[in-house]
Amino acid sequence: MRQWKRRASAFAATLLGLSACAGPAAPERAPAALAIDRVTVIQIEGGTDRGAVARVLADHRVVVDGDRIVWVGSAGEGPRAARTVDGRGRFLIPGLWDAHVHFLYDEALTEAMPGLFLDWGITSVRDTGGDLETLVALRARLRETRTPAPRIFVAGPLLDGRHVVYDGANPSQPALGTSVPDPTTATRQVALLAEGGADLIKIYELVSPEVFDALVVAARGHGLPIASHVPLSLTADVAGPQVDSMEHLRNVELACARDWQALHAERVRALAAWTQPRGYPLRKSLHEAQRFAAIADHDPDRCEQVLAALRGTMQVPTLRLNAFDQARPDRLAAWARAVEALPADVRVRWSETARTLAAEGERDLRFAEWSLSLVGRMDAAGVPIGAGTDTPIRLAVPGESLHRELELLVEAGLEPAEALAASVRAPARFMRIEDRLGRIAAGQLADLVLLEANPLEDIRNTRRIVGVVSQGRYRVPGE
Ligand SMILES: [Zn+2]
Repeated sequence: MRQWKRRASAFAATLLGLSACAGPAAPERAPAALAIDRVTVIQIEGGTDRGAVARVLADHRVVVDGDRIVWVGSAGEGPRAARTVDGRGRFLIPGLWDAHVHFLYDEALTEAMPGLFLDWGITSVRDTGGDLETLVALRARLRETRTPAPRIFVAGPLLDGRHVVYDGANPSQPALGTSVPDPTTATRQVALLAEGGADLIKIYELVSPEVFDALVVAARGHGLPIASHVPLSLTADVAGPQVDSMEHLRNVELACARDWQALHAERVRALAAWTQPRGYPLRKSLHEAQRFAAIADHDPDRCEQVLAALRGTMQVPTLRLNAFDQARPDRLAAWARAVEALPADVRVRWSETARTLAAEGERDLRFAEWSLSLVGRMDAAGVPIGAGTDTPIRLAVPGESLHRELELLVEAGLEPAEALAASVRAPARFMRIEDRLGRIAAGQLADLVLLEANPLEDIRNTRRIVGVVSQGRYRVPGE
């Protein structure tokens, strides 16, 4: 974690001197840096194991100093502040997380991503796959140059199997992954990541059961939380309970099929028989052979058993990605506006892709619909949900896409308070910092989003951002 630095500036000291001359006998303390006064505070309670609820505190004042919230209470009360933001008619929520991002997927976007996240109220992100050294250097540089950026937690590379899906063969499959062919390599690899500054590990789809086990044991040994795709060699009910988060609902449909055992046996055979060098076509061929067959053969009773096994594992469904074909970006006005803020070369490329998509006509919606309905069932079954987008993969604008994800979580059946909890509480719990981050209370880290409308009434109001407090610093989007 970053250190908490109390900033008593020369300017504040001067003010203190003046006010001390003016009157009170007792020495006054320097004012805090920032207050948001007469605001409606939206406190998200619970939402990690059971359904979250929102507590609405009207006419409040929140005081921030250094990296912390130092006081929360009634409007007009509490310690003095050097700067006061008018909160009348506005709503204050904890800073949002995007729990699934890739800073290194498209290098043309890497530099722009931190600022875009903050503009959209994203004050913490989990990078779930990319070269560790590059990511750690990026994070250090942002910190040293005091560049506004969210809190960044990194996994390092996708830990893949004998074959690697993201092997750098072409621009849409950059080298985000690394090969972990055997348990010995798994143990060594996790030790290197822990030493190199990883905050979590990410297990990918082509690992063998032996490598999966070795990765889990090693990560536990180093105290690192585990994010994972369900490996094709395993099933969701077996792999899921051993890890802390699962991504994209990936391969859950295979475990929920009536003939899941036959599908699994077929995959194990195909994985062993693969002789080509690349992993991407292997994964693709298995998804193509089994995904729609499994969805068509969905067994609700079997699926209830699978979901019951996942009550301790945060699900990051990335509905934005899974339901991409249901409401493609090229049909969303908010997407077109958000793209305007991207670097020019990316904007041109993405607009071209969007035009191609628009020309393709109707798409198969079975996977989108299945994903939305499964998230609703997961929520009902008490499975914790986390909000993540996979930005910038598949035209996901950094920052803006998280708001799309929140909308889709509500569409899937979550209450707005639960969708907010998926973004402000569940990822902090995954990173084991929920005692410090995610609530608006004295002593908590100061990450906040000031909105001009109530997100509990309409989740789309999370887009209506007036200002963002990130690590104690106040920022107006776009400035
Ligand atoms: Zn990803």
